[in-house]
Amino acid sequence: MFRLLILVAIFFSTQSFAVEFQGKFIQGHYIIGKTTPETTILVDKKKVKVSKDGYFAFGIEKERKLDIVITEGNKNIIKKILKRKYKIQKIEGLPEKKVTPPEEFYVRIKKESKLIAEARAIDSDLTFFKDKFIIPVDDAIITGVYGSQRILNGIPKSPHLGLDFAKEKGTPIKAMNNGIVTLAEKDLFYTGATLNFDHGHGVSTLYMHMDEIFVNVGDHVKKGDIVGTIGTSGRSTGPHLDIRLNWFGTRLDPATILNIQQ
Ligand SMILES: [Zn+2]
Repeated sequence: MFRLLILVAIFFSTQSFAVEFQGKFIQGHYIIGKTTPETTILVDKKKVKVSKDGYFAFGIEKERKLDIVITEGNKNIIKKILKRKYKIQKIEGLPEKKVTPPEEFYVRIKKESKLIAEARAIDSDLTFFKDKFIIPVDDAIITGVYGSQRILNGIPKSPHLGLDFAKEKGTPIKAMNNGIVTLAEKDLFYTGATLNFDHGHGVSTLYMHMDEIFVNVGDHVKKGDIVGTIGTSGRSTGPHLDIRLNWFGTRLDPATILNIQQ
């Protein structure tokens, strides 16, 4: 009987390691999971897409404190989330209308944020999300990081959720990964010339404040392709590229896919 119990224990303990994770269970981080094909995976009780070869993706919210529950079949895997400390960044000298937009821009801003939200909501079968991402601008200086609380002209604003690469106007921008262009807009109020790429399973990247855009909605872009140039369009104080990483509506830290230390 005792021997049988040991066998049962061994069986269940090996079973419980069927899922492998790449990435860290830290606030703002991006995680790739690998399970056996055809397995149902839930993240916080919501079903996520699993690729034919068993890959799935999810992310951890910036301020998440609760444990995250990943359900594989009928088994729960519970992971603790490590907290982070975010920086405070002050920016002065922005044109007043860009800090607190006048009312006549409200309709436009609402329409534009809906466009971006729609691009982020796409849940395609592409599996590029599991491939390595590359840094989009060579030899740039990182001038803004994810999570920093922004104080614009002395007014506290919502935190910065991207990663800023400063380099002169006209510098080529590379696609960080293979993907499909799901948004290509020349002049959005906040983000200026903006691109969004779908990498599959709800994982998307957004490029902001660009000068020129060389691709169109629907284009299949290869990792490393030049998709446009650095600019200072939208709410921006100087030429730079601001990139975002999203898992559906959850804003994640792009540094986590680029191996950038902070
Ligand atoms: Zn930025």
